[in-house]
Amino acid sequence: MSEFQFKPDFYNSKADISMSVVSDASQVISPAQKINLALIGLGLLLLLIAWVGAGTLQPLVFFLSSIGLISIGGIRFALAQYKGRPEGIKNTGVMFGGMTHRGAAAWITAVVITGFYVALYWYPQYLEGLIRMMDPLSHLIRGQAANQWFLYGFLYTLAVLIMGVKFILKYRHNRYQVIRTFSVMFFQLGFAFLIPAFMMLMNQPEFYFTYFWPLDSYKLRPDWINNFISKGGLGLFLITISVIMTFIATPILTYFFGKRWYCSWVCGCGGLAETAGDPYRHLSDKSLKAWKIERWMIHSVLVFVTIMTLLLWANSAMQGGILGTASASFAKWYGFLIASMFSGVVGVGFYPIMGSRVWCRFGCPQAAILGIFQKFFSRFRITTNGGQCISCGNCSTYCEMGIDVRAYAQKGQNIVRSSCVGCGICAAVCPRGVLKLENGPTKDRTVIHVRRDEVGILDDSVF
Ligand code: SF4
Ligand code: SF4
Repeated sequence: MSEFQFKPDFYNSKADISMSVVSDASQVISPAQKINLALIGLGLLLLLIAWVGAGTLQPLVFFLSSIGLISIGGIRFALAQYKGRPEGIKNTGVMFGGMTHRGAAAWITAVVITGFYVALYWYPQYLEGLIRMMDPLSHLIRGQAANQWFLYGFLYTLAVLIMGVKFILKYRHNRYQVIRTFSVMFFQLGFAFLIPAFMMLMNQPEFYFTYFWPLDSYKLRPDWINNFISKGGLGLFLITISVIMTFIATPILTYFFGKRWYCSWVCGCGGLAETAGDPYRHLSDKSLKAWKIERWMIHSVLVFVTIMTLLLWANSAMQGGILGTASASFAKWYGFLIASMFSGVVGVGFYPIMGSRVWCRFGCPQAAILGIFQKFFSRFRITTNGGQCISCGNCSTYCEMGIDVRAYAQKGQNIVRSSCVGCGICAAVCPRGVLKLENGPTKDRTVIHVRRDEVGILDDSVF
């Protein structure tokens, strides 16, 4: 066969293979799944009707019907997708789906979520129908009418729970992933939703035990401390908890377990990223440039929040004599730029475009401080059995923090990166069992294990 005959045949067969892969991916949606998707779609439609006003007229009816259909459809979808399938993590079609590979569906979703965040922060009046729909539940567990933050907390928790079930089914053969996911679901439902609500029901301050300074920049601010002191014994107890979590528990727990104890097991931001954000983890930027930007940005935010807190204390000590209102406006800008725009609008709104950990990677001051501890004073590391690596790249592809795990594995070098949240997905998707998350002695944490082929010994029988 001449070169001229071969080339068209080769390219045609290549196109056929590509099409068959694409159609394989699209066949993942079976008729049963279409029914489940229809249930979710109907639930979303009812949510839309509630939003345009019906939620104010018939809150309970629209709450039960829309949330019920979305929950049932979502869980049935996850069960049908993974139950009964052979062991192993399936990411079939993830590089072809519009939702998971920056197609039109992903962009539309990003715009809708971003729009929701903008309305939530600055134009809650446009969410009135949805907020009123939450009144029955809010009265039941908080003893008062709903506001936009209760709506947000509820939808956030629902997303973590439904997508958490999906995650558990997908990774059900991996004990670490199952336990870790139960943990984030537990902390989100209990500590970030129910406990603060019950505290309000008891006429106590709304308090989030799983958020502390610097992530919750309010805690440790003088106005917050003074406010809680005025609440008496319970207020003092909550201040003590906050101080202990920031200055004692964080360094100790990070020394023993790395930043994973918080970022992948407790934190609500991490919880949403690990569950609802799981289909987008491969979209994280793995480039060296992104790594450089990440280090500058995240540490700048930490410096920013530290200076802001110190300024507020200085101003409070001088009773506003020198700084006037400057420190308060500094804090206001921090709240607008970092807490609202970055963590909410960009951090979650851009999941389908930039991956699930944009906030954790580029903006979270808590991740920055935990990362510093992890890098320099922790027992946590990922060990690599470099000789077993086949360079498939699965680990790097699915690292949500953009770490080029394969590069470490190829060198046989332990991974000690401040950004690693210890999610363990790299180890879970590795077909050769190369990677292992470990807590061990700090000595030789960054060791490179010499590869057998590099020292010229290729015969396995000698080992
Ligand atoms: S290196 Fe592995 S454990 Fe660390 S963040 Fe990436 S995927 Fe998760
Ligand atoms: S997934 Fe495992 S085998 Fe593949 S490149 Fe990573 S460490 Fe190597």
